[in-house]
Amino acid sequence: MSFLNISYETPARPRAATKLSEFQWFGATPFIVVHLLPLLAFWTGTRWQDWACCVALYWVRMFGVTGVYHRYFSHRTYKTSRVFQFVLAFLAMSSSQKGVLWWASNHRTHHKLSDKDGDPHDSRKGFWYSHFGWLYDYREATDYGKVKDLARYPELVFLNEYWVIPPLVLGVAVWLALGWSGLLIGFFLSTAILWHGTFTINSLSHMLGNQRYDAGDDSKNNWFLAIVTMGEGWHNNHHHFMGSTRQGFYWWEYDFTYYILRFFQAVGLVWDIKEPPARVYDVAHQLPRRGATAVLETAKAVVSVAPVAVDPTPGE
Ligand SMILES: [Zn+2]
Ligand SMILES: [Zn+2]
Repeated sequence: MSFLNISYETPARPRAATKLSEFQWFGATPFIVVHLLPLLAFWTGTRWQDWACCVALYWVRMFGVTGVYHRYFSHRTYKTSRVFQFVLAFLAMSSSQKGVLWWASNHRTHHKLSDKDGDPHDSRKGFWYSHFGWLYDYREATDYGKVKDLARYPELVFLNEYWVIPPLVLGVAVWLALGWSGLLIGFFLSTAILWHGTFTINSLSHMLGNQRYDAGDDSKNNWFLAIVTMGEGWHNNHHHFMGSTRQGFYWWEYDFTYYILRFFQAVGLVWDIKEPPARVYDVAHQLPRRGATAVLETAKAVVSVAPVAVDPTPGE
């Protein structure tokens, strides 16, 4: 079958666009249409079920993005059975972010060249480029050479080549269950919001927040983005040590994706979840905190001033 004849050669990549006219605007059409379709709900009207579906599909599929595309297929931070691996891939791909192998190969390149030339969504090219402009910069086939570990599974390669199947199945299921208004709000609006929630990790998580580690790039920890993305906002932690399933390294760094995976592990669906290594907690490996540094500097100043302020030879 044709989908099994994959090549491990790095696909020829056309030169990235240097001006707006070189962007693949036609390729952006489905992206724009998905954003506009929910407006038709002004004609159909909506019910509470449509909005409940929108919220539910955002969170369920956000787990698919972070727990599956990212922490499983891109970084292989835990293990599961071949059957559940397929179920997870289908769930992740229902978010309309293309195939798991395409996503993983791009993401592995991002870590290798983070915020440097060759990073698919280099945040130094600006917010809009790293948010979604990069998707239309050039059309890139899956670089199977970067995901040979995943390309061993023909069922995954099949899904990767026919990536439109999972979102199509979900869209039809929502339409059958909730009708047209359910499709517009529950599926299309939810998908558009989910895209932007996901894209904040490529854009804002490399721009806004704090750095605990010198990861050699602009990755940041951001508490707000960690809520929106179920734990991915601890992005500087992740760039520092990407082999950990858990991205919130401290108890107060909520990481809902990790909690769900812990539940899956407890019921035997996944196993070998990776925790952060002890060295990440060693302050010698961490950058000084800006607030803490200021307090420390003040304390040092007070101590160094004290001997001068106090009479060194009292009683004389
Ligand atoms: Zn990553
Ligand atoms: Zn990143």
